[in-house]
Amino acid sequence: MTVFDQLKKDLIKAPSSWLVTGVAGFIGSNLLESLLRLDQKVTGLDNLATGYKRNLEQVCQAVGPAKWANFTWIEGDIRDPAVCRDAARGIDFILHQAALGSVPRSLADPISTNDSNVSGCLNMLCAAREIPVKRFVYASSSSVYGDATALPQVEDKVGRPLSPYAVSKRVNELYAEVFGRAYALQTIGLRYFNVFGPRQDPNGAYAAVIPKWIAALMQNQPLQINGDGSTSRDFCYVANVVQANLLAATAQNTDALGQQYSIAVGEQTSLNDLFAMLRQRLAKSYPHLNDFRPRYAPFRPGDIRHSQADVGKARRLLGYEPAYRIAQGLDEALDWYVQNLRS
Ligand code: NAD
Repeated sequence: MTVFDQLKKDLIKAPSSWLVTGVAGFIGSNLLESLLRLDQKVTGLDNLATGYKRNLEQVCQAVGPAKWANFTWIEGDIRDPAVCRDAARGIDFILHQAALGSVPRSLADPISTNDSNVSGCLNMLCAAREIPVKRFVYASSSSVYGDATALPQVEDKVGRPLSPYAVSKRVNELYAEVFGRAYALQTIGLRYFNVFGPRQDPNGAYAAVIPKWIAALMQNQPLQINGDGSTSRDFCYVANVVQANLLAATAQNTDALGQQYSIAVGEQTSLNDLFAMLRQRLAKSYPHLNDFRPRYAPFRPGDIRHSQADVGKARRLLGYEPAYRIAQGLDEALDWYVQNLRS
């Protein structure tokens, strides 16, 4: 039995209270679904800036009315300290996911990114300290590795940030460390790499590559690869991220606290390979794809060329064991994408 299997059994036996910020978003709604399936009591906070009520409705349908009764919804903004305090009342574990994602969004509007990602996170940390909660787990990002080019990316080798988004995530980490040292708040930061899976938003200028490409392939729309396609990422199925959050919230090893962890699989997939994997899977239902070719465009400013996580620290200190490689994640998520991205 894995550490995570054991943890799930323990959680069902002795349920806790969780606050998931960004609950109506992609990762937040997947955390909510997993926690409710484990009979946990969950409060969810979101201002619906980039999240959707329909994500919550899908979770409700997936878990059924009895488990859904354990969920409390708060529509509110983490930029308001009073909202954060109210949401944190009576909570054991905070999983802080609310933020404005996307490197290009932050380059276009650094002030909004700073307001939600830095001030909002600081408000949540203050609320967590005031209650106090047992632990504060927060979403950081592989973008903090910035221009450090050595692969795989190891936690203590961060480079210079390449975007306001990366700065915001690095500042979250520094604040969390200080709240540990100054106020003894237990924190753990998870540096997610490129996460994919059900309920990931395919729409808008800042959509992530996998849902964007699946939508383009299904609808026979132009598909653009930025650069020559050799750019690579460590694509991480959302179930691995859920596992990391639950392990981080409950880890008993005190050496694990006040730290950040790379969360992905530890593998590199080029954009050309990703395109081939998606086309091959979808061509079974969409025969036009056998002749489909991508368009190549210039590299995007602020993008890192290659990333690959070293998940050794998460394995060692949290018991993290990625259960899905990219192919298994795509196989599991494809039905959702096809049903939800049809034009
Ligand atoms: P998402 O946009 O789907 O979810 C973020 C949620 O936060 C949204 O529902 C949004 O409405 C909410 N939110 C934003 N600003 C808010 C505010 N001021 N007050 C309350 N709610 C607010 O994005 P996601 O992909 O689920 O990302 C979740 C977290 O993971 C974010 O912190 C993101 O930076 C981080 N992350 C994601 C990835 C990825 O590949 N998806 C990679 C690295 C880090």
